[in-house]
Amino acid sequence: MDLFEYQARDLFESYGVPVLQGLIADTPAEAEAAAAKIGGLVVVKAQVQVGGRGKAGGVKVAKNPEEARDRANDILGLDIKGHVVKRVMIAEGASIDKEFYFSVLLDRSNRTFLALCSVEGGMEIEQLAVERPEALAKIAVNALEGIDDAKALEIAKAGGFDDELAAKVAPVFVKLWNVFKNEDATLVEVNPLVLHTDGRILALDGKVTLDDNAEFRHEGREAVSIAKVDPLEAKAKELDLNYVKLEGQVGIIGNGAGLVMSTLDVVAYAGERHGGVRPANFLDIGGGASAEVMANGLGLILGDSDVKSVFVNVFGGITACDAVANGIVGALATLGDSATKPLVVRLDGNNVVEGRRILAEANHPLVTVVETMDEAADKAAELANR
Ligand code: GDP
Ligand code: MN
Repeated sequence: MDLFEYQARDLFESYGVPVLQGLIADTPAEAEAAAAKIGGLVVVKAQVQVGGRGKAGGVKVAKNPEEARDRANDILGLDIKGHVVKRVMIAEGASIDKEFYFSVLLDRSNRTFLALCSVEGGMEIEQLAVERPEALAKIAVNALEGIDDAKALEIAKAGGFDDELAAKVAPVFVKLWNVFKNEDATLVEVNPLVLHTDGRILALDGKVTLDDNAEFRHEGREAVSIAKVDPLEAKAKELDLNYVKLEGQVGIIGNGAGLVMSTLDVVAYAGERHGGVRPANFLDIGGGASAEVMANGLGLILGDSDVKSVFVNVFGGITACDAVANGIVGALATLGDSATKPLVVRLDGNNVVEGRRILAEANHPLVTVVETMDEAADKAAELANR
């Protein structure tokens, strides 16, 4: 889970990482009020989960509350690399002397943590990494030892900081490591970390990715993450379903991530012949496609107002096709009148003959059984386009 900048800022603050005041605003009027509260020069910053906001016009300085309102008005609704800005942060303005770069991340390929550091931070860091990679230090961090004072100094020196500056930034690196470790993050990035003209070191921008697999260790984390979750995805999570909402009209249910992904492909391909309809979701109901899981999955998909037809694509393995067919029939019985959209079912694999027989016998008016995946995708796309 990626945090928004203002969430990272709040998290940093709770760990004693030096940050400036920041208040969120969803309207120009709120931005004006926030700027008045902070006072003086402020920076209006787009809250989107994508880098390069500054270059895209998503970070603007404002001298007074009226200007903050106008800048917020410019930035709210802006499309930054496909992310529409719905919220801004009004941050206390900083008078910057120097901009630095620091991050710590999970380096999967080397099975370690890695600190990246450069005394030359700011908006050109990607360019620096490409053109002068030696200016961006990469220091492995042992998971058990972490970043203590000595390690922090080593990282700062490697990043090109002189002794005096290294001594100033090192304690901040230690605090950022504490964030990384205690919050089970896979990324904590500060760019820029700055030297303020008054001598303070400040984290002016933060990017934090938390490891979802460690969520169980962080009760109440929802309070941190207001990252707008799709309501259907939230529901799926409650039901323990592997579901991702997409933009299309053909609901998809399958068993096994690989099969579901290929199903998305064939449906998208078939959709080109049927008015450009596309898959509405990814949903993998896993190996044990019981009636209950099928009912939950179908119920979820039928509750998506974008969905016009549903394609159930199941390959019987350990759970044989007859059990899956009973699952579908049971699910439709459970859903009753709330099942209103046509279903195209393709079953194959273990016990397929019996599975198809069960569906034929149930003879549900919404269900069409099709033998092959391509034909089924075509049928589902056609029905979605009616
Ligand atoms: P990003 O482009 O998405 O990484 O957004 P940042 O928050 O890093 O802001 C981009 C740039 O705006 C920074 O590198 C700074 O140069 C500048 N900036 C951000 N906050 C302030 C501030 O408070 N004062 C001044 N003068 N510049 C700022
Ligand atoms: Mn930045």
